[in-house]
Amino acid sequence: MEEQAVKFNKRLQELLAQPSLDAASATDVIDQIAKQQFNMAVVKKAMLGKSVSQVMRKGPAPLKQKIKSLLEAWKKAPAAGPSTSAATSTQVRRRSSGSTSSVDVEFSKTGSQKRDGMRSVIIRRIVSLNPGRSQKSVADVACKVEEAIFNKFRNDGDPYKKECRSRANYLKNEILDKLIAGELTPEQFATQAEQKLVSEEDRRETEQHLEQALRDKNPGQKMGNRTNQLKCGKCGKNDVEYYEVQLRAADEPMTVIATCIKCGHRWRQ
Ligand SMILES: [Zn+2]
Repeated sequence: MEEQAVKFNKRLQELLAQPSLDAASATDVIDQIAKQQFNMAVVKKAMLGKSVSQVMRKGPAPLKQKIKSLLEAWKKAPAAGPSTSAATSTQVRRRSSGSTSSVDVEFSKTGSQKRDGMRSVIIRRIVSLNPGRSQKSVADVACKVEEAIFNKFRNDGDPYKKECRSRANYLKNEILDKLIAGELTPEQFATQAEQKLVSEEDRRETEQHLEQALRDKNPGQKMGNRTNQLKCGKCGKNDVEYYEVQLRAADEPMTVIATCIKCGHRWRQ
């Protein structure tokens, strides 16, 4: 069961590694996966959920719908699945730790320990943001990005290191693809305003989260921070209740959703 899931995961990752998603093949794989009746335990062990979600983000609407049903089915499936073989799970574990905690590939060294350290930080970050990529496939782009950031600062001090870590968070999806394809140069990547580095895909996702947060009329316990520091754009009063939501990665700032107590107007601060 689990081996099957790992195989499917590999197939999806191959599809995701292509510059654009082959929707027909992806649909085919998703259909096959749906027939397997995997449960969550198997899905998690094989890291299949992540790949499926990535396909969902890239795929056309009918495929998205299919994947939604698949995710629902997984959630409902009984937790006690068929016994899993120890050998396979060890293999999966080893693979996952290998991709996140160490850099095993050769990359071009700079002669500076600090800079080489940053290069491996960037490589690890890209791999963790893009589960289908191997360290080898991203080493080159990571080195070019580090070099461009270094050239911007002309030294390897803390601002340079901070910038490397911060910009590495954008090395995913379209931005990464564009860098690899040469549509975005490392210099552009290193100097563009960070806002511009958010891919369309991520922007859409953020907007969806935001719409949902704004639609959510009863945010429950999150609600209730009352302040006179925010001003309603509609009625001009300063009596506002707000709560914070995490729309993006955990290391990015929270977004404030504000509601005017007087007129009920809601907005994003
Ligand atoms: Zn108001």
